[in-house]
Amino acid sequence: MKYCAIASGSNGNCYYVAKGEDAVLIDVGINTKHIELRMGNLGIDPSRIKAVFITHEHSDHIRGLSVFCKRYQIPVYWTAGTCQGSRLHLPAHLVHIIAANARINIGEISVLGIPKFHDAKEPCSFVVTDGSTNVSIMTDLGRGCDNVKHVIQHSDVLLLESNYDEEMLEGGRYSYYLKNRIRSGWGHISNKTSLELFLQYRSSRLKHLILGHLSEQNNTVELVEQIFLPHCDHIKFSIATRYQETDMFYLEDILQLRQIGA
Ligand SMILES: [Zn+2]
Ligand SMILES: [Zn+2]
Repeated sequence: MKYCAIASGSNGNCYYVAKGEDAVLIDVGINTKHIELRMGNLGIDPSRIKAVFITHEHSDHIRGLSVFCKRYQIPVYWTAGTCQGSRLHLPAHLVHIIAANARINIGEISVLGIPKFHDAKEPCSFVVTDGSTNVSIMTDLGRGCDNVKHVIQHSDVLLLESNYDEEMLEGGRYSYYLKNRIRSGWGHISNKTSLELFLQYRSSRLKHLILGHLSEQNNTVELVEQIFLPHCDHIKFSIATRYQETDMFYLEDILQLRQIGA
């Protein structure tokens, strides 16, 4: 399997996972021009994307959806609540309404919906699997609920939200209302919560940890690296940012690195 973050952060999210000819996107939260540019850098042909899965209707997850899926005629899978909340009117033949805990097969891969706590109508995260390897994209997590813990335990590749530093949020210039929204249990998880979840629920099968959906105001790449890197001795560690796409990661390469102990 191969995967990458095309964009990650509180201003736009788009993730790519593929096996052979079967490629899917999770969220289309940056505009189509930027997606095309970044896909060009990664060697991804947008017309070969077989399906788009949308986690929830916040603009940082759907901003580019309408133009992108119409331009390339790509089917969109989302819950009834997300569809309604998006207020987008996509061509009916491209819309697939799914349950928040659905399992959808796209060729050789399956995409599993993972219901979550977040202040949206019917949000879910997604795990993409080929039956033996699980690539989990876990952002916009209000809290580390049982579903989140279960997914971490069964992930080979885990992209986990590490949204904010608690002190930066507290001392920052967000309104009292917004601060409380973020940490209410229906917003986002902090670096501290993310680290605790990772340390407590990671299993020996985990090969690659990617931190993502960092807040622009209340977090920094350096801080996240400082917090997590000391705990990532035997796994690959990356941070997905808003500024540019990550590399394209090939699971086979990461497995080889582990075998030779690099
Ligand atoms: Zn978001
Ligand atoms: Zn959100």
